Order: sequence, then structure tokens, then C-alpha cells
Amino acid sequence: MMGRISHWIDGKPWDGVPARHGEVYDPATGEVTGQVDFAGPTEVDLAVDSAARAFPGWRDTSLAARSRVLFAFRELLNTHRDELAAIVTAEHGKVLDDAAGEVGRALENAEFACGIPALLKGGFSENASTRVDVYSLRQPLGVVGVISPFNFPAMVPLWFVPIAIACGNTVVLKPSEKDPSASNFVAELWARAGLPDGVLNVLHGDKVAVDGLLTHPTVRGISFVGSTPVARYVYETATSHGKRVQALGGAKNHMVVLPDADLDLAADAAVSAGFGSAGERCMAVSVVVAVDPVGDELVEKVRARIADLHVGDGRRPGCQMGPLVTGAHRDKVASYVETGVAEGASLVVDGRGHPIDGEPGGFWLGPTLFDHVKPEMTVYTDEIFGPVLSVVRASSYAAAVDLVNANPYGNGTAIFTNDGGAARRFQNEIEVGMVGVNVPIPVPVAYYSFGGWKASLFGDSHAYGPDGLHFYTRTKVVTSRWLDPSHGGVNLGFPRND
Ligand code: NAD
Repeated sequence: MMGRISHWIDGKPWDGVPARHGEVYDPATGEVTGQVDFAGPTEVDLAVDSAARAFPGWRDTSLAARSRVLFAFRELLNTHRDELAAIVTAEHGKVLDDAAGEVGRALENAEFACGIPALLKGGFSENASTRVDVYSLRQPLGVVGVISPFNFPAMVPLWFVPIAIACGNTVVLKPSEKDPSASNFVAELWARAGLPDGVLNVLHGDKVAVDGLLTHPTVRGISFVGSTPVARYVYETATSHGKRVQALGGAKNHMVVLPDADLDLAADAAVSAGFGSAGERCMAVSVVVAVDPVGDELVEKVRARIADLHVGDGRRPGCQMGPLVTGAHRDKVASYVETGVAEGASLVVDGRGHPIDGEPGGFWLGPTLFDHVKPEMTVYTDEIFGPVLSVVRASSYAAAVDLVNANPYGNGTAIFTNDGGAARRFQNEIEVGMVGVNVPIPVPVAYYSFGGWKASLFGDSHAYGPDGLHFYTRTKVVTSRWLDPSHGGVNLGFPRND
């Protein structure tokens, strides 16, 4: 069944004629399932104007009324979580259970935003100077743009939208053109929750839509998540147009296994974090750093687990890993298997031969394992973003830390050990934004904030949690004195506190 996926502007699907459109696929069958509108400059203006019109009313809506909408949205999202997960699986390809996990984390971000009345409390100093009170306010930016990647079509938009709206902003969301339907489904839930028209708009499309938001004079802030080259471009373009920007980029996440680690736990973790969602996670483990002498034993344990993985259509029972998102991406990831061999890595498992429980037209690639990977090899330097796991051997703890710290990315990392002292030293020395200790995918809970270091994040604010609140508000400090008979008359000196 093929349907149109329209922009969502001013509280309803846009029914104009799109100048261009893109095709949306079911990755498990390879069939086209929808046509998505691609915005041109006119539609960018329509969406931004809709958000701008809604801003004054929404900014002035009381915290009580705003939080009632947030609670209602949270309830609707919870009620419809299975439908949303099914939409994610149908367009992204990740297995249903994984999609449900994604929706669960999205829900937690909505729950965090429900606490907005407490979160927006400012400071107050009574009598800072004699009969002068000083207090701080947090006020919204205005119209903000959210631009999201394909790999978490439900969760990443909801890292930003609930907290942006809770703070009183209005939003234009530009989701990935590869799996756009989740954003429309979520926009409908917001409307049913009572969010006024225009507070959330969904604009579909590609670079044209993104550039329109980055340069639009009415847009005050941009939250972006995607690959590092685009994140850098978004940061540079939008900041040069005067906007506040947070741009989260790509990753190459290392899992360090020390000799004292429980190797069964480490092997389970490496396989789960390396091949979950077919490796299409920014927090996926793509490099296992095996510290001597555990390499041979660990590689054997990982190899054995890969052989048992059930790869296929994520809607079929028992499937653990689905297809890749598009045929082009599958081909690109598969090409790294050849590149790794040509560059001298040991191919332990070739994912191209893995049995598939799915239609032959799907964008399939099974899990691949390379051993004896060297830092100069392409399979190490590139973010492959697929089911290809590399093992690098390190001679010591110090060599492992040097390897991780020399990498240009700094999104996530993990250490596997039973030595608390080593783990503490690691969390201190490692130049990475999110660290797991015997936890392979250390995605922070909603009341912390998510973000990497180095080439994994451009800007000063991480996503959601306390940083989300800071990003989506500007502070103002008011110094106030109410007239009283002893105001003191004219004084040309600089205000003193007394
Ligand atoms: P992408 O960079 O190709 O696209 C991200 C968004 O930018 C999409 O909405 C897309 O339409 C738009 N876009 C693409 N090319 C553009 C261009 N040249 N100019 C302007 N806009 C453009 O990323 P993707 O393939 O959708 O997602 C995968 C990437 O996202 C990986 O690199 C992954 O590591 C990263 N990611 C990072 C995080 C994080 O939190 N750091 C989270 C999820 C994904």
C-alpha cells in the first residue's frame, strides 16, 4: 500500500502540491511503501510562519496549562507505543522489540518534560541590596528547528520536541526523509493532546529543507543529529546566521576489555551492542579493544554468538537483527567487508553469507567480524554504521586508552573489568562524553543529558535533560526596587550594593 506522507503544518497535513518528493521503502522487502513531500523554500516559509504565529500565544500559556498538554501527550504516546514501534520497524527495519525500546526511551523524555513547572523555577534573592530584589527568569527562544537522522525516527525527535515545547518554544521538525512517518504519527498525538495548532510543525525533505531552516531569519535555534560532516556544516551555517546551535555528529565507539573481565559477559555485550539495530546506532560498539592476553578467547566467544544470531524481517517472531535502511547503505556497508580483507584484517565472520529469515528483496547484510584490525585501516577509521565489528588488540590498559583518545570521535565508550580502580581511572582519563562500566550502550537516562565530545558534537549543549532546558531557554535577570519614601534621590554613580 502506497501513501503520501505530507508536511504537517498549522495542526494538519499540508494538502498543497509538492514540487518534489522522495520514496520511502520497507527495508525488509525492498518495496516502495510511500511518497514523502520534499519541501522547497515556499513550504519552509509556511512551516516557519505557522510556528511564528503560534509562538506569542504558546509562550504566554501558563505552566499549568502547558504541563497538562505534556501529561496528555505522555499518556497518548504510552497508549500508542506499539503502533509507533510498528511504524518504526516498517520504515527503518529494526526489529519490533528494538523499536519498542526506542519508543520507551522517547517516552522517558516526554516524562521529564512533564516536570516543567519545577524545572523552570528561577532564583530569587530578597534584599540583594537594601530594598532591592534580584531574580532570574528562563524564557523561550522562539521558533526552533529540529533536524533528525534516520536511525531513531521516534526517539531522536522526542529528545528535543517535548522539552522545547515545554519551555514555551514553537518547533519545526525536519525528520529523516528515509523514515518520515513516525514524526507525522507523533504530531497527530500532540494535536490530540491539546497542543495548539502551529506549536509543532513537521517539514519533510532533504538539504533544501535543512538549508531553509538554517538560514531563515525567524528561526532562533537549531538542534541537529546526524553524521559528522553534516553536523559540522549545520553548526557553521546556522551559527553564522546568528542562531544557537547544538549539532550531534557521528561516532566510533570502543569497548575496552581488560584481562580480568568476565569474558562471557563481555562477548554478550559486544554482540548485543555491535549488531543491535544492525549496527545503525550512534552508540553502537564498532571496535572491541581486547587487552592482552584475552584476544583469542574473546574473539572465539564473539564468533560463536554471531553464528546463532537470527537475522530477518523484524516483524517475524524471534528475529534479533533486521535489514539495513536502504539498498544503497547496505551496498556501502558490504563494501567494507572487501576493503577490510584487502587492507589485511582477518575476516572471522563474513556477514554476506548469513542465513536470512525474510524476503529476498530486503536490504540484507548479516553480521561481520574482523580481528587484528589496525588503526590505519579504513574499517577502523570510517564510521561504517552497519553490522561490522572490528577487534583491535592492545598490549596494555594504557595502550587501549591511547587508542580511544587518539580517535577523532568521542561519543560513547565502555570498559569491561572487575577492577573498580581501573574503571575509575578509565572514566577519568577517557576523552569521551558517555562512558559505560560493564554497560556497553551507556545512553544517559532522560534526567541526565546525551552528548559526545570532539567530532561527535558541535556546540556547548548536550541533548535533553538539564542541557535541553538550558539550550531552549534564555536567562534574564531582573533587579527590582519598588518605590518607597527613602529611595535616596538622584545618584550618578554606578549602582552599589549596600
Ligand atoms: P545524515 O547526516 O545523512 O542526515 C541527518 C539529517 O540531515 C537528515 O534529516 C538529512 O535529511 C539531513 N541532511 C543530510 N545531508 C545533508 C546535507 N548535505 N545538508 C543538509 N542536511 C542534510 O545522517 P543519517 O544517515 O540520517 O544518520 C546517521 C548518522 O547520524 C550517523 O553518523 C550517526 O552516528 C549519527 N547519529 C548521531 C547521534 C548522536 O547523538 N551523536 C544519534 C543518532 C545518529
